[in-house]
This record gives sequence, structure tokens and C-alpha cells, in this order.
Amino acid sequence: MFGLSLSKVLFTIAVVVIVWGAFKYYSRMLGGGGRRESLRERVERAAQEAVRRRMGDDGAAGGAPQGPRSAGPDTVEDLVRCSACGAWHPRGTACGCGRSVH
Ligand SMILES: [Zn+2]
Repeated sequence: MFGLSLSKVLFTIAVVVIVWGAFKYYSRMLGGGGRRESLRERVERAAQEAVRRRMGDDGAAGGAPQGPRSAGPDTVEDLVRCSACGAWHPRGTACGCGRSVH
């Protein structure tokens, strides 16, 4: 009676350990690294990164959301918009497209 119940307990523990180990191995395969991260966290992080990258690209590409003077205290140069290609460049300098018409 005691031996039977002990083997039952041992069997249960073995099953739990095997299942737990398999789950750990499976999640590590999905996550890539040793750090455990849920799918929701990964999706959230990817979305934040995409938004940040997109906003940074817009700022660097010269798509000024406001007038040239109201962009901020750091932008002291007057920017003029090239009528040929639409890119912003400092006043008095030729646009990179070579067709600058001030
Ligand atoms: Zn241009």
C-alpha cells in the first residue's frame, strides 16, 4: 500500500518535471535567448520600436511638421523648400537635387 502510493507520487513528480522541462525547452526555442519573454511583450516592444523608427525617419528626412522657424531653438538656420524636389535645405545653399530654385 505504502509502496504503491510512493511510486504513484514519484511517477507524478516525474511527469511534472518532464512536462516542465519540455515547456521550458519549447519556450526557449520560441524566445531565442535565455531570457523569458511573453509573446505580448515581444509584440509590444516591436510596435514601439517601429513607431520610434518611423518618427525618427520622418524627422531626419526633412518632413518638417511645422514652419521652418517654429521647429525649435536648435534650428537657427532658415530653411527654404526646393521647388523642384520639395526637400528642405538652408537658405543660400544649393539643393542636393541640383535643380534648386530659390
Ligand atoms: Zn531639390
